[in-house]
Amino acid sequence: MRTPRSGNYSDTPRRPHPLPPARHTRALPSDLLAITGAFAILIVGLWVRHGGVAALSKGWADAATSITQLSGLLASGFGLVGLALVGRPRSVERHIGLDRMFVWHRILGETMTLLVGVHIAAALVAWSAAGGLLNAVKDLTGRQPYMALATVGSMLIAVVTISSLASVRRRMSYETWYFVHLAAYVGFAMSFGHQLVTGDIFGNDTVARVLWISIHLALIALLVVRRWGTTMRSVLRPLRIADVRTVSPDTVAVRLAGPGLGRIEASAGQFFFLRPLRARWWWQAHPFSLSAAPSSAGLRFTIKNRGDASRSIAQMPLGTKIAVEGPYGSCTAESIGSKKALFIVGGVGVAPARAMVEAMSEVNEPVVLFRASRHEDLLHLDELRELVDARGGMLRTLVGPSASLAVKDPFSARRLTEVVPDLADRAVVVCGPDRLVWAARQGLRAAGIPTSSVHFERPWW
Ligand SMILES: Cc1cc2nc3c(=O)[nH]c(=O)nc-3n(C[C@H](O)[C@H](O)[C@H](O)COP(=O)(O)OP(=O)(O)OC[C@H]3O[C@@H](n4cnc5c(N)ncnc54)[C@H](O)[C@@H]3O)c2cc1C
Repeated sequence: MRTPRSGNYSDTPRRPHPLPPARHTRALPSDLLAITGAFAILIVGLWVRHGGVAALSKGWADAATSITQLSGLLASGFGLVGLALVGRPRSVERHIGLDRMFVWHRILGETMTLLVGVHIAAALVAWSAAGGLLNAVKDLTGRQPYMALATVGSMLIAVVTISSLASVRRRMSYETWYFVHLAAYVGFAMSFGHQLVTGDIFGNDTVARVLWISIHLALIALLVVRRWGTTMRSVLRPLRIADVRTVSPDTVAVRLAGPGLGRIEASAGQFFFLRPLRARWWWQAHPFSLSAAPSSAGLRFTIKNRGDASRSIAQMPLGTKIAVEGPYGSCTAESIGSKKALFIVGGVGVAPARAMVEAMSEVNEPVVLFRASRHEDLLHLDELRELVDARGGMLRTLVGPSASLAVKDPFSARRLTEVVPDLADRAVVVCGPDRLVWAARQGLRAAGIPTSSVHFERPWW
């Protein structure tokens, strides 16, 4: 990485003030559960109302038709909820965080594909009863209205599901996987027509048809307003790179500022997607955590060189426009409240911890266990020490390759309780590489710390 330029692009306010905290949602988890439950009842209710249960005992052809209908309805239901999560509704994100939303999106998507498989198999059985398998295949792949579109749509959904399997995903760059993934929207849209005309649920029941179309229109509105609207707003009111400071040989701290800050509400502990508005980069948005409490002086991110985008952002000229989308993340200094806090961090994972400690007070008595392979990876060490000391906390570092450490398992239950005797009274935040997160969670579990007290970011792709 080239040595980044330092300097000031914009004047820093003499007395920076904190930005308003990220707005909370008024929806309760029980409200969200009730909406999902009502949707499930609606889907199964439509099937029952159209004789789905009775058909199960009328012979194999009727039973197969009934299973075709139920699996089709459920596949669409799972798909609709999965797509609603892509809209990143704030009411859900604030409760469970974007990482869990993406994990749920994946589970719903995989379930939908399985149900599409059952739907196709049951349809073949049902249609074979009338004129044999070959005729059924011809009908279901093109002879019936909208079936050719539905067939291609199902294939696209299958391709997206396969590309999302961990073993396949690992071989692709994030961007390739992401753009393949967009084909799922096309597949879903292509399958819509056949739902309305095939079978008697939506074909013969006007109320059901209007309801089904309304649900799809509401989903499109959510995607347009929340997903694409949020991106458009961030592009129209970008921030600019105000200064870049070297933190280690492969890491820089980038401060973004500008009038666009006026629209931003954010809390320490959250992250944003950064989209550089430059020729090669405008189509990519990468997530980075705030590494300082957000204020009118700007948003600071600590960026480690991990590939093309992170390296390039660090080298962009001062004044470069960056569209900033967010904030996301449900673990914030406010969500910890007045509890004592323990941070277990590694490498650049220190960024959100550093910001949260800054936004905390003496009541939190923050303890930070900072793991790094090399001394130069102890990013923001002096700043962090000063912040922790000012709040009556404690900072411990553990440096060196795992094989050379005197303590073989630094995150074992025994070791954690030795270093932090009041472990059980603390909210724990774990940020760092997957291996560190895994080891820390194992140790915390063995120490009897309830899962609800441990906050960490799940890998989401
Ligand atoms: C919630 C969250 C917060 C993060 N905070 C920070 C931070 O504060 N500082 C920091 O240096 N890094 C952070 N990262 C990691 C950062 O997003 C990646 O390093 C960056 O996207 C790499 O892009 P690249 O093109 O430079 O490298 P690539 O070579 O493209 O990717 C390197 C790694 O980053 C992952 N990655 C690439 N693009 C994305 C994406 N759009 N979304 C998720 N993962 C991606 C890839 O899976 C790969 O493992 C964070 C990641 C997440 C998910």
